[in-house]
Amino acid sequence: MNSHAQAPCAHPGFGPLPRRLTTAVRIGGVDVGGGHPVVVQSMTNTDTADVASTTKQVAELWRAGSEMVRVTVNTLEAAAAVPRIVDKLAMMGVNVPIIGDFHYNGHQLLTAEPACAEALAKYRINPGNVGFGKKKDSQFATLIELAIRYGKPVRIGANWGSLDQALAAQLMDENHTLAEPREAGEVLREALIRSALDSAARAEELGLPADRIVLSAKVSGVQELIAVYRELARRGKYALHLGLTEAGIGSKGIVASSAALGVLLQEGIGDTIRISLTPEPGQPRTNEVVVAQELLQTMGLRAFTPMVTACPGCGRTTSTFFQELAKTVQEHVRAKMPEWKVTHPGAENLTLAVMGCVVNGPGESRHANIGISLPGTGEAPSAPVFEDGEKTVTLRGENIAHEFVALIDHYVERKFGAGAARGG
Ligand code: SF4
Repeated sequence: MNSHAQAPCAHPGFGPLPRRLTTAVRIGGVDVGGGHPVVVQSMTNTDTADVASTTKQVAELWRAGSEMVRVTVNTLEAAAAVPRIVDKLAMMGVNVPIIGDFHYNGHQLLTAEPACAEALAKYRINPGNVGFGKKKDSQFATLIELAIRYGKPVRIGANWGSLDQALAAQLMDENHTLAEPREAGEVLREALIRSALDSAARAEELGLPADRIVLSAKVSGVQELIAVYRELARRGKYALHLGLTEAGIGSKGIVASSAALGVLLQEGIGDTIRISLTPEPGQPRTNEVVVAQELLQTMGLRAFTPMVTACPGCGRTTSTFFQELAKTVQEHVRAKMPEWKVTHPGAENLTLAVMGCVVNGPGESRHANIGISLPGTGEAPSAPVFEDGEKTVTLRGENIAHEFVALIDHYVERKFGAGAARGG
């Protein structure tokens, strides 16, 4: 059982989403696939050879909720740094599987640095650049043999940007001989899918069992990604790593990733996800973890932190107070959750509401575990609070934010603290 396993937080009246059953893979103590909860992962953007910076960023991603973290392993220096990073993280109490991302020279790096091969929890292999020409098969075989020797799982991660050109050319040639050739885009999509599936079959022939293989085939277009993963799911039982590659920056990256992954997750496809956001200047790398968690939680697949329902505001509320309160509440529960996870398990399932006026405020607040309906423009300056559908208190004056946050903490203590009956 994963340490992160939680009951799916199905929305009332909908029941849990169906999950497609894949072969479970254990990655450094975390179970992926086989009906286990969908795992959130992320990737560093530091130079892995810089032990201090990479260790710091891995720890940040883990604290934000990343359950596995991938690092680039591109040079001998980076490979030599990996065991030192893993040791440092262990000393800091950061217990997160570290995955090595290899392109071109993985067979050489893992052979030259056995301590790196041992320290990593999984190797990511890109079948599009594992080797070229005659060397491709032997270099791929070396990587698989190393995974077998060190007892590690691999992700065979095909990518649109580094598609196996030899395979693509072969399929294009075959296509031209057909009476009714398919469109070029369709053939290239097939090349990506085949690249992943054929490589997985080859890994099994070499002796790596299916319960040590995760597959991915990432593209940057939403409709293409959905089509590719539906095919991967239809044609195999391998655990699937889901992600839109090069999703983009800001809201575009979030929307595109959510649209693509949301459709697939709804169909039960995907065992672990990564949101590949380009960080905006000055924004933390951890945003991609928050987006992944919120995607899973809003879909009812996992629960990580209390969810805040807030109205968008309109002409009935002209002050920014309710926006500030919604932000304060969201930040407060997110900051408290690492502690609550240990001391108040179950708090992650809470729903909170911060509403701007009397139109939808009391109704939405009644639907939440704890909600507040603030006064709109021209309304009496009072804010009724609702707990589990009942009005419990009305807040007034300058200290509404402080008092509401205290009420949330009190509710969590009462429902999920040491003296509470569990499941409240
Ligand atoms: S709850 Fe009130 S303030 Fe909020 S959007 Fe609706 S009408 Fe506007």
